Amino acid sequence: MFLADYHTHSLCSFDGSASLTDLAQTAAETGLTELCITDHCDLLNTQGKPDLSFRWKPVEEQLALARPLFDGKLTIRMGLELGGAWEFPDFCRELVAHPGLDFVLGSVHNLSLADGGVDFYYVNYKSEEDCYYVLDRYFDCMERLSEMDCFDVLAHVIYPLRYMNSRDGQHASLERYEPQLRRIFRRVIDTGRGIEVNTCRGETIEDWRWTLELYKDCGGTLLTLGSDAHLSQDVGKGLREAVALVRELGFDSVARYIKRKPEMIRL
Ligand SMILES: [Zn+2]
Ligand SMILES: [Zn+2]
Repeated sequence: MFLADYHTHSLCSFDGSASLTDLAQTAAETGLTELCITDHCDLLNTQGKPDLSFRWKPVEEQLALARPLFDGKLTIRMGLELGGAWEFPDFCRELVAHPGLDFVLGSVHNLSLADGGVDFYYVNYKSEEDCYYVLDRYFDCMERLSEMDCFDVLAHVIYPLRYMNSRDGQHASLERYEPQLRRIFRRVIDTGRGIEVNTCRGETIEDWRWTLELYKDCGGTLLTLGSDAHLSQDVGKGLREAVALVRELGFDSVARYIKRKPEMIRL
């Protein structure tokens, strides 16, 4: 079975420490076909301040070390998780022009600069109001992002729920954003792009059901699967379960990307 992890972080990410070689070792041992490295380029940092310091060189070095070791065993793609793109469109245009780049995830990890830029991870969600204050602004940023062409797949659409519900015990849900999500999904679908199922290291599978049903209802067919691993032992976690869920919901393929062009692989 084709199984590809299209969301992983190495030591080139501010919150990662594993070498790409170590991540690839786990990917090969656990039977993955492809591994796409998607290190962070967050244009708003964890303090909500602009950060345009990203450089490709460390990623290129990791790829140059790992690829020859796994030749014929595992395909390693060059990707990027681009956060906060809507704040700096010119920077993004240049960034994603890298000729070796296979895949770009578009992410919203922070409030907009105008709203203080705070990283959702650092919010203490104490009430329903706290959750919906953040979610209102989260989807406004995602809608702005969806208008841009610097990404291929919208990353972890359900992202803030990790912190609101799983970590802080709230019960936020996305139902009230259905009209806005439909607009976002249609925009992404009409421009030949898609969304990912992010298993959050195998912890969020079933949480995706409502969002995937909505995406499908909007005509969405293009999906990538990713573990969001930041440690080598988490590579590929939850991908098999994610395949089972998307099959159950009627999706018949997943995408891989070569030089930012999707190829659909039948499940
Ligand atoms: Zn992310
Ligand atoms: Zn990530």
